[in-house]
Amino acid sequence: MRIAILGPPGAGKGTQSKRLIEHLSIPHLSTGDMLRQAVSDGTAVGRSIEQLINSGGLVPDPVIIEMVGQRLDQPDCQRGYLLDGFPRTLAQAKSLDETLSEKGESLDLALELHVDEEAVIQRLQARRKTEDRPDDEMSTVLERLRTFRRQAAPLLEYYRDRGLLETIDGSGSPDDVFARIKAVTDKKKRS
Ligand code: AMP
Repeated sequence: MRIAILGPPGAGKGTQSKRLIEHLSIPHLSTGDMLRQAVSDGTAVGRSIEQLINSGGLVPDPVIIEMVGQRLDQPDCQRGYLLDGFPRTLAQAKSLDETLSEKGESLDLALELHVDEEAVIQRLQARRKTEDRPDDEMSTVLERLRTFRRQAAPLLEYYRDRGLLETIDGSGSPDDVFARIKAVTDKKKRS
């Protein structure tokens, strides 16, 4: 199954993604992880985007699209995958569709994790204490949420129009949220 998980920073995408990839035995394609890896490896891409990531902005579409395109060509993606943090813009969603249709494939599901903004801010503050991500600093968090709000509406509409969008209530314990996600993906698998 080819799935994209969508939602604001701090919605629990990372936590739920880990569970879902185990449940479905598919690779986890997190663009945030790929970019952080590029930064820590000091690659040319990494050096060019470090500032941007740390200030909460979005990496330019062509950079992300190229990076994801290369990853989708890897053999482990043949049985499906979970995209986490991508697509984030309408241009990325359209480009993903084009890439997939060239392979005769399409996305099966866009899972939106919906969490109130206040809850998201609280979660990100808690995460900062344990994970030490520079972009979890408060002013950056607010900028990342603003960026998300700006980009999310057209993206969600795009997937809603295609009948691919499933919105999941992301509040409550990780177990509760995962039970909701599992119900949706299991139903999709049967259909
Ligand atoms: P994340 O771990 O998904 O919150 O991503 C961390 C940061 O990486 C974001 O704040 C962006 O700067 C960058 N990033 C990750 N995915 C994308 C994407 N699809 N498009 C643009 N920038 C991205």
